[in-house]
Amino acid sequence: MNNNKAKISFLGAAGEVTGSRHLLEANGSTILLDCGMFQGHRSDADSKNRTFTFPPASVDAVMLSHAHVDHCGLMPLLYRNGCDAPLYATSGTAEITAVMLADSSRLQVADAQFYNKIHAAEHLSIEPLYTEEDAALALGHMKPTDYNSDFEPAPGVTARFLNAGHVMGSAMTQLDLETSGGRRRILYTGDLGRQEALLLETPAAPEGVDYLIIESTYGDRLHEKLEDAAGKLAGVIKRAVKENGKIVIPSFALERTQEIIFIIDKLRRDKSVPEIPIYVDSPMAISLTEIFNKRREDFCFDDKFKAYARMDGDPFGFDYIRYLRSKEESQSLNNKSGPMLIISASGMCEGGRVLHHLRNNIGTESTTILLVGYQAAGTLGRKLQDGIKKVKIFGMEHEVWARVETMHTFSSHADKADLSVFIKAVNPARGIFLVHGDPEARSALSAALAADGVKNVKCPAMGEVFELN
Ligand SMILES: [Zn+2]
Repeated sequence: MNNNKAKISFLGAAGEVTGSRHLLEANGSTILLDCGMFQGHRSDADSKNRTFTFPPASVDAVMLSHAHVDHCGLMPLLYRNGCDAPLYATSGTAEITAVMLADSSRLQVADAQFYNKIHAAEHLSIEPLYTEEDAALALGHMKPTDYNSDFEPAPGVTARFLNAGHVMGSAMTQLDLETSGGRRRILYTGDLGRQEALLLETPAAPEGVDYLIIESTYGDRLHEKLEDAAGKLAGVIKRAVKENGKIVIPSFALERTQEIIFIIDKLRRDKSVPEIPIYVDSPMAISLTEIFNKRREDFCFDDKFKAYARMDGDPFGFDYIRYLRSKEESQSLNNKSGPMLIISASGMCEGGRVLHHLRNNIGTESTTILLVGYQAAGTLGRKLQDGIKKVKIFGMEHEVWARVETMHTFSSHADKADLSVFIKAVNPARGIFLVHGDPEARSALSAALAADGVKNVKCPAMGEVFELN
């Protein structure tokens, strides 16, 4: 026995899906696993985002699982508030995070300006959560790291990033450290991908894990099969050609946009669809697709994708897709007639350039609005998905004459079957913590695991602390 006490505190994404942030204390060192933004209504999210329940200066190392804002989005605030620790991430994540944080900081500044303008008469004002300078400060601490190679983020702690299969660059963090019971292996999945994905390698279960901290977003759901995606998309494109219609795909800039482009590229190569003009209208999606294209031999991509990319030479269609950066180019699409396909952010139609494409085309019967991701309650995307016939865009009411269709095939997260396969393969010796899931999804997964005889499954509450031994 020794006197090393190790403990983990769950400070976000505990019984919810945003604000991932877990603090590990061991060997006299403090390691932060992710520092994500809480998302939701301003009044709830804002205070959670602005307060740290630990001193940022006390952190010795920060491990970032992937570049989604609910995992990396508070890094700028962490560093502005005194953290001076190295920020470890895979090199793919490091590069994508730079794009995501630059965008997030611009949104924070614009959001504060908007709030202050509409509340000026009441003398209410807020400061942006952070600025581009804060983002640059955090990014200056980035230590890009290879997959599958050991490093020492703190004395006596051995770390390794393993492919998580969720988005490009995403990693599970494996940590070996001393506890009062001996040396233990901890695996934090971050967000975990599916057993079958379009672009990414399946996450493999490492051996010898004692404690597993795993997400549970879809702990109560099964996804549709991925192979159905190409056929459905081909059907939508063929119909648009017949009707001279426009297809508007509100899409998430990271991963989903590249997946859709990759499917279209394969359909065109096989001559399964007629060639129609395709536009990607989102500066962030363009920057990210360029990173994917440049890094398409990266470890996290699966062999089938790599082989296709080598054979094709242009898996993201830079030869024929029009990637639009300027506002003028974006607006010029309004005057063009179909058929055409427009991929534009944001994925839930809550902002971004997709709004003006929706405004201009939603009243036309030949338009197809194709939803390709999760639509949260209350968003314009969800209203369209629910078949609501009158919606507001930029404050004006519009009748919905366009067809609205949803592809449920896409998801970057493991479903309940994938989670169960992964957990059984890891088979942790001492305990499982379920995080990053709404209460229903998490309890369903916990119950399913109990029914399968999996023991020591815990559903930590926000702020709950556990000793690891
Ligand atoms: Zn994610």
